[in-house]
This record gives sequence, C-alpha cells and structure tokens, in this order.
Amino acid sequence: MKVLKFGGTSVGTKESIQGVLAIVKESFDKGEKPLVVLSAMSGVTNLLTQMAEHAAEGKPFDENLKVLEEKHFDVVKSLIAVKFQNPVFTKLKLMLNDLDEILQGVFALRELSMQSKDLIVSFGERFSNYLVSKIMEQYIPESEYINASHYVKTDSNFGNAHINEELTTQLIQALSYTHADKLLFVTGFIGSNDKGRVTTLGRGGSDYTAAIFGSVLGASIIEIWTDVNGMMTADPRIVKKAFSLPILSYTEAMELSYFGAKVIYPPTMIPAFLKKIPIAIRNTFEPHLAGTVIQFESDKSSYPIKGISSISDISIINLTGSGMIGKSGFSGRLFTMLAREQINVILITQSSSEHSITFAVNPQDAAKALQLIAVEFELELDANKLIMPELEENLSVLAIVGENMKRTPGISGRLFHALGRNGINVRAIAQGSSEFNISVIISKDDLAKALNAVHDAFFAELKKTLHVFNLGTGNIGATLFKQLHEQHDFLLDNNDIEVKVVGISNSRKMLFNEAGINLEGWQEDLEGNGEIADLSGFMERMRAMNLPNCVFIDNTASKLPATYYEDIFKSNISIVTCNKIANSGDYAQYRSLRDTARLHGVDFFYETNVGAGLPIVRVLKDLMMSGDRILKIEAILSGTISYIFNNFVGDASFYEVVKKAQELGYTEPDPRDDLGGVDFMRKMLILARDGDHVIEASDVDLGAILPESCLQAASVDEFYAELLKADQYFNALKDKAASENKVIRYIGTLEDGKVKISLQMVDSSHPFFALSGSDNIISFTTERYKERPLVVKGPGAGAEVTAGGVFADLINVGAR
Ligand code: ADP
Ligand code: ASP
Ligand code: MG
Repeated sequence: MKVLKFGGTSVGTKESIQGVLAIVKESFDKGEKPLVVLSAMSGVTNLLTQMAEHAAEGKPFDENLKVLEEKHFDVVKSLIAVKFQNPVFTKLKLMLNDLDEILQGVFALRELSMQSKDLIVSFGERFSNYLVSKIMEQYIPESEYINASHYVKTDSNFGNAHINEELTTQLIQALSYTHADKLLFVTGFIGSNDKGRVTTLGRGGSDYTAAIFGSVLGASIIEIWTDVNGMMTADPRIVKKAFSLPILSYTEAMELSYFGAKVIYPPTMIPAFLKKIPIAIRNTFEPHLAGTVIQFESDKSSYPIKGISSISDISIINLTGSGMIGKSGFSGRLFTMLAREQINVILITQSSSEHSITFAVNPQDAAKALQLIAVEFELELDANKLIMPELEENLSVLAIVGENMKRTPGISGRLFHALGRNGINVRAIAQGSSEFNISVIISKDDLAKALNAVHDAFFAELKKTLHVFNLGTGNIGATLFKQLHEQHDFLLDNNDIEVKVVGISNSRKMLFNEAGINLEGWQEDLEGNGEIADLSGFMERMRAMNLPNCVFIDNTASKLPATYYEDIFKSNISIVTCNKIANSGDYAQYRSLRDTARLHGVDFFYETNVGAGLPIVRVLKDLMMSGDRILKIEAILSGTISYIFNNFVGDASFYEVVKKAQELGYTEPDPRDDLGGVDFMRKMLILARDGDHVIEASDVDLGAILPESCLQAASVDEFYAELLKADQYFNALKDKAASENKVIRYIGTLEDGKVKISLQMVDSSHPFFALSGSDNIISFTTERYKERPLVVKGPGAGAEVTAGGVFADLINVGAR
C-alpha cells in the first residue's frame, strides 16, 4: 500500500481538487491500495486560529464563519452532482454549527485554552477530508471519511502533541482490518489525548500523520503532494535559482526542514526512517515530475552541499561568566531547565574557552527563557560568576546542509567567503557534531541577500547573477548596455554569468529595478519612469537594495563619483570604472581605495583607464604578481597625438593635420586638451603607481608639444592662428627627423620610478617606429623581457573598445 498526502494548496481550490482526484484515482485503479491524508484547504487553519483568538477578545467571528461556509460549499456545488449535494450540505452545516457553538463558548468566557484552540482548528481537516471523500465517492464508492483523532493517540501537549506509539499502532491496525477494501480519506494534523480531547501535532503536522499511518501499515512509499517540485536547494520564494533535489537522505531532509524548509514537517522523517520507508515529495500541479525521494542513503551528488535553509526570525541569548569554566554540569542544568519548560532551543554554540554559551530560541520564548535563567542561576548571578544575559533580536539562522560536507574540506571557507564578500556580518556559528550542517546567525535584514549569495557560491555551475549599478549613459554607457544585451545569452551559456542592470543614472534621471532593467528599451524606461537624478540618493538606494554580488560601474568622466568609491567598497560592492579621476588624484587616495577594497574583499577594476580595452593594466599586474621586475615602460597612450604625428609626414603641415583631426572628431573641442598631454600624463601616473611607485602628478616631467605661444592663446581660434605661425618650427622638426630616417613620437617613459613624457625621434629599430593611425602602444622591459620587450598595441580609444574593456572587467568580477 501507499500513503498519499495532499497539502493545503493541493485541496485549496476546485481545480486543484480535481488534480488530487486524478492522482488518487490512478493509484487506486492500479491496485496500489492508497490511503489518503489531507490537510485543511489552504488558509483555513490560519483563519480558524484567527477566529478563535477574535472570539477570546470579544470580537465578532461570524463573517469568517460565512467565509468558511462559502469556501467549502462552492466546492460542493461544482464538484458534486446536484442530486448528491443535499446530504453533504447538511453534514457540513452540522459541523459548522458545532464550530459556531464552540466559538460562542470562547466568546462568552473570553478565554481560549490550548485545548479549545486545538479543537477549533481541527475543523479544517475535518471539513476538507469529509468533502473530498464525498466528491470521490461519485467515482469510487469505496471512499470513506476517517476522523484521525480516533486513531492517533497523543499526550496532552496541546498544539504540539506527542504520539503514543503503542496505542496508535493498535488502533490503526484495527482500522485497517475493518476497512480493508476501503479508500480512506484521513484527517491530517489531528489526534486526541487519553480523555478523547482533540489535540494537534504542530503546524504542518499532516505530513507527520501520513508518516505515522505509512509506518504502521508498512507502506511501500509515503508521497507528500504539495505545490513545488520537491525539496529544493533553498526556499524558492526567496532564491529564484533554487532547483529541486532528486534524492536526499532522511538526515539531510531532517536538517533542511528543521532549519526552515517548510515543504516537509521535520518529525515526519522519524517513523519513515525507522521502517526505511521512502518519502517522495511531489507536485500536485505537475504530477508527471518525479520530485524528491527521501531515503536511507544520500546520492553521490556532485555538489558539496545539498541545500540551504533558514529560520527567518530568532533571538539569541548569550551567557558569559567565569562561573561556567570547568563546570561540567552547567550547560546540562541550563538546557534541562529549558527543555522542562518546553522552550525549543534551535541552536547552541559554545566558545572553546567555555567562557560563554550562545543559544537561539524562537522570539516568543525569549523573555521566558531569560526569566527562567534569572531564577535557576540566582546564586551564580548574585556572586557575579555569571553575567545576566542580554537578548539579541531580529536575527535569522542560515544553515547549509549535506552529507558530502563531511568528506569535503573548505566548505565553511566558501560559506564565509560568500558572506564576507557581501558584507554580511556573522553573529555566531554552529556546526553540528554530525558535520551534516553548518549554521550561522546573521541579521534578519541580510537574510535574503545571504541566501542568494550562498546559493550562488555553492551551486557554482549554476548561473551567477551580477547586480549592476551603472552611472553614466553617454557613449560608453550606452555601448556597454548594447553589448550586455547582445551577449546576455552567450554569457549565460558559456560563462554561467547573468548580468542584471538594476540601477542606471545619468545627470538627469535615475532608475531602479531589482528584477533587471530591460536593456533593449532602457532609454525610454529611464526617461519615462526615472526619478530626478541625485548621486547621493543613487548611492543610498544601491546600499538599501542590499543585493548579492553587486558591481558599481562609473562610466562618467566626472569628478564627483570618485568621492563615493570608498563608501561603496565599505558596502562590499565592487567597482569597475573607465573614469581616471580616482586613480590619478593624490596618491593617498589611490592607496586608500585599494586598501579599503581589499579589506572588504571586493574588486576594483579599471583596465580602461589606460589604453581603453587593451590589456595593459592587467598585463602589468600579472608581471608584478608573478615576481617579474619592471625595468622600463615606454608608451604612446594618446590616440589623438598618435594620429597627428602619424599623419605629419611628407608635405603635410602640422596646422592642417591638427585641423583635420578635429574635423574627424579625434580631438577635444579645444585640441590643446589633447596636445597638452594631461590625459596622457594621468595614464602614465596610474601605470607608475600600479608599478609600485609612490608618485604624484606634480612629479611627472611633462614635456610640451606646442610652443608657448600656442598654449597661451586666449581662444581656440587664436590658438589656430598661433599654430599656423608655428608651422616653421614643426617643419624643422619633421625635416630633421626625415633626414635621420626617423619619425616623431610623443612618448611616455617610466624608468627608475620617474615618469617623463616628451617628443622624441625614433628610428626603425624602435618598436614605436611603425605605429599607424590612432593606435596606442606600450612596451614593458622587464627582468624576463629584457632582450625583446613585451609589447601591447592596438586601438586605444573609442566607445566600442572602451565599453568592451568595461565589460571584460565586469565579467572578471563575476568570475571570482
Ligand atoms: P503544503 O500545504 O502542501 O503542506 P507547505 O506550504 O507546507 O505545503 O510547503 C510547501 C512550501 O514550502 C513551498 O510552496 C515553498 O514555498 C516552501 N519551501 C520552503 N523551503 C523550501 C525548500 N527548500 N524546498 C521546497 N519548498 C520550500
Ligand atoms: N492544516 C495544518 C496547518 O496548516 C496542518 C498541515 O497543513 O499540515 O498547519
Ligand atoms: Mg506543509
């Protein structure tokens, strides 16, 4: 035989009940001899609890009674043929009258005992099982309704009663003899004590009822039918990437459910485990799927952990004092007392010095626990051997679970890396001695972020999501969005990285969307739905959204964003930037940005600060990290100047070449901004600093290209007038170069910690001789590359290649 248990959502609507009927009928027709256990229709247990509490407060409850009636009557009307409806209405009405009377009693007395509460909530399961048995009777006449409170015998711990196994076994066996050929619909969740008073088995307890019946009757399998595809790697409502687990051991399922995976009630595993009966968790709404099987042996999954679960609201009590040291009886006394008073201790950690014990309880138990400690340890407290503990609230437990953990080193490292990198502070840690779980206590506000970050960290083969906040929607920003949009699927398939742009701002508007802004129509979205831009507001929102794996991208050329970089790192957010301001400001800032990023375990990538998308910063870093020594760097890092000197040959006049460059859009509106060399200087400064030199902008020896008269000119027009006059000077330079078979180049050099930028003439033996167009070039002469320097060359400007470089940096953040 088989036990089929259906949860609240499975019997929640007439459509879902039809699904239940189909599953049960198929099993019955196949001769599997199913026994069915049903929960109350979804929402009904909560509603009954609320009605009971309202009655005790003297508030009306008849509206809700009506709601209950309609909810069940509706199902009768649509799923039972008219000629059979009347007796069902009558029986339901009788039960509703009973319920009404009990509530009236509570209302009159203004008192609600746990016993009355159990009686009141038991109606939920009684309604649903009676109702569904009657619907089924139309197709399978053997259908019969069973009130399990006559068979499941318990103690009198109302609300969370414990089974009397012996008695329960006898009664269920007897039932099976007398009802051998019947199709039973058994109320989940409820039992009764020795006096016959109705008790309940704890919220979610219908699963447990199913396991009890399955165990007594020697079922071949206990199927728990619910609204998800089995037990998943994490709560799918919080972790969108959670996926279902095909196989779990009883221990793993127990640990996951104990730490909050609501899909199965933890005690359910015990009877099944003792009789080695597998439990399947399956989806009523997708019955063709296999779901999860919980069995004796775990499978050899390739993942180091099985799943992550959490309890969202707990309080912790931290007991410290010298009185505990070496006193073996101390913790025994503490926890015996808490157990006696029925306070559930969720988790315990003890420091190795034995100087303190921390334990977690449900918030509603916390005050009572403190009181009990004050009484039990009065003497120790008076003698100052113990400090009166304080309560810490608004905390959550996150637990990672799996039998593989035992065999795999580095699991906790990975857990703490993921938490640390996302700025999540760990208040306490506990590892079960079984090594099947590691639990951490964190702030409740961080829970969703932590679950997602830890999930990403352990299920690495899965897609990792980067949450991007992008400042600047000019040429580079817009091109980046286009590239991200085009590459979205490729990234997912090949790098397992999903990039979600969740915040965008330019100088006018800003827009946020946690689900990811659609990069196809971002302009309209930003214009139409954006708020007025405000940089500090942008930063605040970025922090407040508290998303895992966040990256801030600065695609502006503005000074302001850099002032926020440090705070961004402090919020554990990585930065990718093409903006040179932060790195070329004063050295103290350059240093402190790196220190802060390292301290918070986040990345600071700025490959595009030098040579756009060309790999220059990265090459330098790799050389240094691998222990090579930089002897000399030579570079041409201005595309504009490059263009100008590459074209300043033959008959061309310098004046004309500059004019042409401006017409082609290669220069700034005032060409002196390029020809002055300041931008070049910034790039050299960054390279020198990355090469480990403490150096300021004022230390750079910046040689001029232009004569003083051109630099002094008051306007762009006057500048050109002066430039025309300087033609002779440039022609002389050109002729001299030509006569020596050389070319003119504006070259930056880093040697012995000194940066110099100057006009030079180089011959064909020099690697910069053959530079063409507006290319950048850089040569590294190092201990290893001494004979022939390492040269990187290519286009060093333009929106496509710069955005491409930003993109690459972003993916490198994701790769960590
Ligand atoms: P039922 O009413 O069928 O008993 P429950 O609401 O008790 O269903 O449990 C199913 C719900 O448990 C799912 O809808 C899901 O949101 C939640 N849940 C939490 N953690 C997990 C998990 N790790 N795997 C699957 N479901 C989970
Ligand atoms: N109806 C009960 C509850 O909501 C029992 C169950 O659904 O398992 O807790
Ligand atoms: Mg449940």
